[in-house]
Amino acid sequence: MTHKPPKPTPAAASEPEPLPVPELPPRVILDLATKCNLRCAMCPVWGSDDEDAIEAAKGIMALENAKKVLDEVMAAKPLIHPALYGEPTLAPSFKAVVRDVKARGLTVAINTNGLTLHPEMAEFLVEIGLDSISISIDAVTPETLMKIRGIDKLAKIETGVANMLRARGDRTVPRIGVSFTTQEQNKHEEAAFIEKWTPIVDVVRIGHVFLDGYFQDIKAPEKRVPCNALYLTMPVHNDGSVTVCCLDGFKETNMGNVFETSVKEVWLGEKFQEVRRWHETDQYDKIPICQKCNGWVQYLFEDEVRDGLLIRRSPEFVYYNRIDRLSNWSGQLLGGHPEPALEDTDGN
Ligand code: SF4
Ligand code: SF4
Repeated sequence: MTHKPPKPTPAAASEPEPLPVPELPPRVILDLATKCNLRCAMCPVWGSDDEDAIEAAKGIMALENAKKVLDEVMAAKPLIHPALYGEPTLAPSFKAVVRDVKARGLTVAINTNGLTLHPEMAEFLVEIGLDSISISIDAVTPETLMKIRGIDKLAKIETGVANMLRARGDRTVPRIGVSFTTQEQNKHEEAAFIEKWTPIVDVVRIGHVFLDGYFQDIKAPEKRVPCNALYLTMPVHNDGSVTVCCLDGFKETNMGNVFETSVKEVWLGEKFQEVRRWHETDQYDKIPICQKCNGWVQYLFEDEVRDGLLIRRSPEFVYYNRIDRLSNWSGQLLGGHPEPALEDTDGN
């Protein structure tokens, strides 16, 4: 179901019709805790040298507040990400929230740095029915890991991946992937990373680093289009505040507070609608965080089928999906991606 709320300002005759907005967000990011066991240089929050800003961003979402949001969004069956700028497994309410999300029949996906994926945690995640886990690794050698993530515990992270695969056994879920964010210090290991991990996990994701307000080294089409993130995703920070986008770690934007009002009031509220309208009318300069951001290209995908892989490529991300492991990539887990279509290809 989509909703067309009134435009914040009357549109001129030549202006495009407002794009439809779903009544509730199809994807909700719940910042259960801005708390991490790493300080990666590339991280928009923990990589900052502004200690006061980090201090202000830190915090823990009360379990009852997380449940309030889930109560309000569950009718739309959104995809839930229980972390924003933190290692999800470190949030005090992590297990309770994942349990609650699954009890409601919703889909839940986590991104983790892998350091806490000991056998018991892996067992919990599999038993509870977690739908997807992506482990950020970014390197094939401890030396490069040190440059990217400030630690050399590559073996520990890789053991975490093995623990997940072992705990899953023959089951279909969770979908298990690893990711690599390409940047100056690790780009020489990108090809080796793909080669190493595609035979092991379900999906390998390669992305570009977000630095200085945009994703580095990507080629965007000339004609800019409204960013899908504004119509798909609601990032809820630990204090209930909602920003335009998950990239806004230090909350430069403020769309409202879902603890003080409601998800719907914020999602369809005047502020969010105004930002969408600015995108729809090419007024990107009105939103400093979006002004030079090229993240809108991440939704422009092309597929290629090769060597047993469905390679889904946008200018920002490339996903190397094992065709024999596609059955766990469906429904809400697609997160706005089109369904993989493999008919008439070698991937049948
Ligand atoms: S693991 Fe993730 S949240 Fe933690 S510092 Fe690194 S990028 Fe940031
Ligand atoms: S343009 Fe960039 S900052 Fe703006 S909503 Fe899209 S991804 Fe986020």
